[in-house]
Amino acid sequence: MIQEKDDALERASMDGARPEAPECAGFEAVPLSAFQALPKTDLHVHLDGSLRPETILELGKIQGVALPAKTKEGIEQAVGAGVQFGSLVEYLRGFSLTLSVLQTEEALERVAFELAEDAHRENVRYMEVRYAPLLHTQKGLRLTRVVEAVLDGLRRARETYGIKSNVIICGIRNISPESSYQMAELCVAYKGRGVVGFDLAGAEANFPAKDHIAAFKLIRDNNINCTIHAGEAFGPESIAQALHDCGAHRIGHGCRLVENGDLLHYVADHRIPLECCPSSNVQTGAVQSLETHPLKLYFDLGLRVTINTDNRLITRTTVSDELHRVHTALKVPFGEMKLMVLAGFKSAFLPFHDRQAAVRKASQELALFDDRGVRAAPKAAPSPPEFTGVSGSSFPHATN
Ligand SMILES: [Zn+2]
Repeated sequence: MIQEKDDALERASMDGARPEAPECAGFEAVPLSAFQALPKTDLHVHLDGSLRPETILELGKIQGVALPAKTKEGIEQAVGAGVQFGSLVEYLRGFSLTLSVLQTEEALERVAFELAEDAHRENVRYMEVRYAPLLHTQKGLRLTRVVEAVLDGLRRARETYGIKSNVIICGIRNISPESSYQMAELCVAYKGRGVVGFDLAGAEANFPAKDHIAAFKLIRDNNINCTIHAGEAFGPESIAQALHDCGAHRIGHGCRLVENGDLLHYVADHRIPLECCPSSNVQTGAVQSLETHPLKLYFDLGLRVTINTDNRLITRTTVSDELHRVHTALKVPFGEMKLMVLAGFKSAFLPFHDRQAAVRKASQELALFDDRGVRAAPKAAPSPPEFTGVSGSSFPHATN
């Protein structure tokens, strides 16, 4: 079996071809509602790409910002919601519109709250919201106020609904290494106060992560987690830089990891989580189609695959939608989908004991769902096996 997997990897990495979607006899699709019912995480979601279109319209009115459309549909069209752009740079253009109404504390607090509210409505239990505070100072807002407004919104959602969220601060590859360093300093200042990680986002090609090495040194010197968008719009070299030069603890996307089998095994051996965002990858042209997304190969090879939204508005998606699309397009059985869901909890930038508790709780709840996605009635629910540590789970075949 392992040999088979290695052969598949070798074939895929040697000729650079994407793996074929598997033929899976007897596969039965489980409805979207089953995925909505599961406890979930979203570890890769951008604040400025996940607003409600109605809120953009209202904020435009309140702030006197001219918008290119007057209807929800018009706003969705203007940001290219769900459009296949074929390039990351094109995909990122819609953000200039969302950012135009995200320059006040009130707006930031509101969209953070609403994002957590939307996530709560589909049973997301833990979320790590990322954004670049630097992009919210166009009207003179201080960086500290930008960070605190978002934390306030997430706190209000937690108090209202119980959903727990933390923040990842992003540097932007295509602005400047100095600005990334400034964002890293902000991250250090808010460590332990709701900011749990640092990321490098923006245009990947022509803007290598190692140019921002000073920012990552500061992050690592302060014992802070980091993740990096890599292998989305550039090859496996970008992933190697993220890991080896910058010390990334997780990789955002990693679509092109399939092109380097040796690096892939390193990622597997070190249990480095991949933050996969399947629909977004199709939009940016990082993969040709959902059916040929390498995440199934990664999962089959034992890598830690997590499924995330990237941008709820611009990708027109939810975590449940992403899970359901992976399930149907790649014919991943529901039982294996539950393991990907659990991998999200295992990969959270949380202190060990908090993460262990979250994994245990999610594991117990996931065990109540059978392979057809049906949740056992509370009375009939078997008592879940004892969880023995974050490296295991109630699932007999759970990967660490
Ligand atoms: Zn992203």
